[in-house]
Amino acid sequence: MTDIATQPEQSEKALFDYFKGSISDEIGYMREQKAAGRGIVGFYCEFTPRDLILAAGAMPICLCGTNKNTISHAETLLPANLCPMIKASFGYAVTGGCPLLNDSDLLVAETTCDGKKKMYEVLSRDHKMHVLELTQKPQQEVAFKHWLAEVEELKQTLEQTFDTTITEQKLRDAIKAMNAERRQILAIQQLGKHKPAIVSGLEIAQTRYRVAGFERHHKQMESFLSMAQRRLDEGYQAAPTNAPRILLTGCPTGQGTEKLIEIIEECGGLVVVQEACSGIKGVYEMVSEQGDPLEAIARKHFNIPCSCMTPNSKRETLLATLASEYQADAVIDLVWQACHTYNVESVLIHDFVRDELGLQYMKVETDYSDSDREQLKVRVQTLLELLQ
Ligand code: SF4
Ligand code: SF4
Repeated sequence: MTDIATQPEQSEKALFDYFKGSISDEIGYMREQKAAGRGIVGFYCEFTPRDLILAAGAMPICLCGTNKNTISHAETLLPANLCPMIKASFGYAVTGGCPLLNDSDLLVAETTCDGKKKMYEVLSRDHKMHVLELTQKPQQEVAFKHWLAEVEELKQTLEQTFDTTITEQKLRDAIKAMNAERRQILAIQQLGKHKPAIVSGLEIAQTRYRVAGFERHHKQMESFLSMAQRRLDEGYQAAPTNAPRILLTGCPTGQGTEKLIEIIEECGGLVVVQEACSGIKGVYEMVSEQGDPLEAIARKHFNIPCSCMTPNSKRETLLATLASEYQADAVIDLVWQACHTYNVESVLIHDFVRDELGLQYMKVETDYSDSDREQLKVRVQTLLELLQ
């Protein structure tokens, strides 16, 4: 277990109020930095190396794709049978309602799935865009070489866009800063290992943020860790000792799309870890601080076990490790409707979880709407009853 940091006391209510409203803080910080002349780079996917953007002196911002209200606007241009994440992301562009997107000097996109790839072409009509071509055979060294060339090309785009030179030293400094940030996020995720639980899955999910390298948010995350330590010292339990422990895998969630986590915890379960990109996937591995820094950045990101990879056996390895480390009782696999890669991969994940891990498995295919809440509750309750 990672050491829990100590921070001055802050009431739990104040802390969670901060996390609930942290987007306005992030927008304020972004505007401040932009006014001071700093470049802003928006991106959508965990494969985007924030380290490289930081090394260019710019601010990496993970753009929103979790607002159900923007979906109908996206559907005026895009087909309706796309995954809600693509539509929600694009909906922000149609409505012009996201200051983080509007103020970005450059968007970095990636060819992880066909829907996103083509959506980015439409988006690039109004935004400066750099697309990273992601090679998809993680076992092949030649695939990594191509990805490394793609990361080198992004470096050149950043240098030209922001009229700067990304030196080796700048890369090393950025890697150190991002590793510190990744370790902090990982420490929060690892709080889920406690049995009995000291934090819920929903509380952990609320600590997420979008602007990398934002000191104020780092301090709040330290406060979260201190709060967890206090709870531990006081013998606080976030859930009964026998609450079924759920490993959530599949598509990422975000603020506004935590429906499944809410349902699992309302029904008496506990999401002890989220394997998805919105959970531990992006921070489980650090960037090596040895060797060539650009290659180290490329390698760490190439290792992310996303379903766009083929075969994606690293996801199974990660699931096995997490199931054991977090003492999971069952795996729930979240698939956003029309996400073909996660949807088809669920066949393999189902068999792996049942046959290799010996755990219960349930797949949930849904979208951002609340229309199936009751139906999902019944399914989740049935699974939890089986576990008790
Ligand atoms: S699940 Fe795949 S496509 Fe989605 S954010 Fe993660 S790495 Fe990117
Ligand atoms: S959830 Fe699936 S379909 Fe949607 S953007 Fe991510 S990888 Fe693409």
